[in-house]
Amino acid sequence: MTNFQDAEITEGWESIFGRDEYRQALREIADTYPEKKSLFVKYDDMDMYNSDFATFVLEEPDRCIKLAEEVAKEAMPPTWDPVNKINIRLIRLPRDAKVGIRNLRARHLNKMVALEGLVKKVTPVKPRMTLALFTCARCGAPIWQPQDGMLLQEPLMCPNPNGNCNKTANRFILDEEQSIYTDTQKVEIQESPEGLKGGAQPQRLSGYIDDDVAGIITPGNRVTINGIIRSAEKTERVKTTVFEVFVDVVSIEFEQHEYDEIQITEEDEKAIIEMSKDPDLFDNIIASISPTIKGMNEEKAAIALQLFGGTRKVMDDGSVIRGDIHILLIGDPGVAKSQILRYMSSMAPRGIYASGKSASGAGLTAAAVRDEFTGEWALEAGALVLADKGLACIDELDKMSTEDRSSLHEAMESQRISVAKAGITASLQCRCSMLAAANPKLGRFDLENSTIVSQIDLPPALMSRFDLIFVRTDKPDEKRDRDITEHILKVHRRGEALQVDETVELDGVDLKMIKENTQSIMPRYDVETLRKYVAYSKRIIPVMKQDAVDMIQNDYMSIRKSGDDTGSVPITARQLEAYVRLSEASARMRLSPVVEAQDAKRAIDLIRYYLKKIAGT
Ligand code: ADP
Ligand code: MG
Repeated sequence: MTNFQDAEITEGWESIFGRDEYRQALREIADTYPEKKSLFVKYDDMDMYNSDFATFVLEEPDRCIKLAEEVAKEAMPPTWDPVNKINIRLIRLPRDAKVGIRNLRARHLNKMVALEGLVKKVTPVKPRMTLALFTCARCGAPIWQPQDGMLLQEPLMCPNPNGNCNKTANRFILDEEQSIYTDTQKVEIQESPEGLKGGAQPQRLSGYIDDDVAGIITPGNRVTINGIIRSAEKTERVKTTVFEVFVDVVSIEFEQHEYDEIQITEEDEKAIIEMSKDPDLFDNIIASISPTIKGMNEEKAAIALQLFGGTRKVMDDGSVIRGDIHILLIGDPGVAKSQILRYMSSMAPRGIYASGKSASGAGLTAAAVRDEFTGEWALEAGALVLADKGLACIDELDKMSTEDRSSLHEAMESQRISVAKAGITASLQCRCSMLAAANPKLGRFDLENSTIVSQIDLPPALMSRFDLIFVRTDKPDEKRDRDITEHILKVHRRGEALQVDETVELDGVDLKMIKENTQSIMPRYDVETLRKYVAYSKRIIPVMKQDAVDMIQNDYMSIRKSGDDTGSVPITARQLEAYVRLSEASARMRLSPVVEAQDAKRAIDLIRYYLKKIAGT
């Protein structure tokens, strides 16, 4: 690596800030200060000046940024007060500056990196003293003491040469009013689920945000944090050589589009359009969902539609109707509910898996929580907020806490969560679809003595928020049991065969044949292809044709009239919206801009199926 001297660094910044774009940005700061006080510097502009210089800035960010601030101040008009700070904020760091939170190592200390993640927790913005004014209690001399930690640093001695008071221990009086402050905020970010391998728990990192960028992020946001990695002693009391790392935030970039993490090339687009014309598309997608699970085709069909989702509507008066589809699987233990949820949380874009039982702190939605170390209150996101614009897979929903029970209604319908506690008031978005699983009240359905609905231990108001509720009992059934057994054994055999070297001779076993005979449990479309397809489909806003509208209306009316719902879940206008969302999703899956009769039929079939099952027939 090329080493740069201070003079060379200064020269670099002078050249970069001399460009029109930066001259204008600096002029704006001069005109609007303190409203604007940050100069955003694109990495590419540094790279264009000199790529060694750009690399060096990331290696020694503290020194380089300090010099950049001085150069920026030089460029200010003569009326500029040099005490005013200009924040240099580097943005759009190159790909190789990206580091996963779990990959942070000692070599990253004091270097500039880009961290991608989800905002998990934020504290309220508070003033922090950056320059404290003390006066000597004996001689009254003013002393300016810079502050950079959390603990207030007092001057060691009085510098007044005439005061003759620096030989003995002095008292210093803090002048809180004259001291200089900046806004500050502590945040916690968590690795985004896309980067995690099979069910690993996401790691978290704390960060500090200062001045004009404090307060711009909320829990659930997907961001890139560009910052300097620093270390801090874990406890104040014991001296130690092992340090905690945190990030000193330099700049924050938001993800622009909801499916940004999925790149679709022109070639992909061609393949996607070709795929949409396949008459077996729907069956193929169903066959790509948890293929190691036998049967459950209706559940899988519903989950397929959930991936695509209906249209979110914003009405003339600003009110919003959700497009996301919520599904509940409720059934005896061991019917593969958890298996499906885990599969979907890793397959769906922005999938999050959480259990109602173990959700801690923020619970399933969001909450004000106390920081373990500082005792400060912070706003923390739960699973539904972290899954914003994605899929929240919530297992063991029946075991959730009472707080979750009451906050979930709002979260599912208005897709917002309000928190008002301990001085924190916030409203967080959770525009996600929810795939939940629950067990019956007594752990297992008793089909002899009572109805299915009476054995579901969830409040009716919560139940009515689900578009579809699938009941699955584990009654012995010769044919089904045989099918499932065969299938599970197939899965295991294929699993074994894949681990063994094909050239090995085994007595009575033909590895090649096993692999061929178990092809059916491979997903029809691989995860990458399906994700791209789903991401692409979101560009389409399907509109209902009259015959689809008529079909939905007739079906809904006939269910209401026949009283099919007596003894099962009540069919309300909420379910009417379910018809619409499901048929929109079906059209979207075909990449069709129009919702046709075939789409309405798909929705009707699924709704009829679930009502029949839940009525116990
Ligand atoms: P649940 O969450 O419903 O209690 P699990 O998801 O933990 O059940 O599933 C238990 C086990 O049974 C899993 O290993 C799963 O693979 C297997 N299993 C259950 N039903 C099926 C099925 N239809 N096809 C394949 N495997 C199944
Ligand atoms: Mg389970």
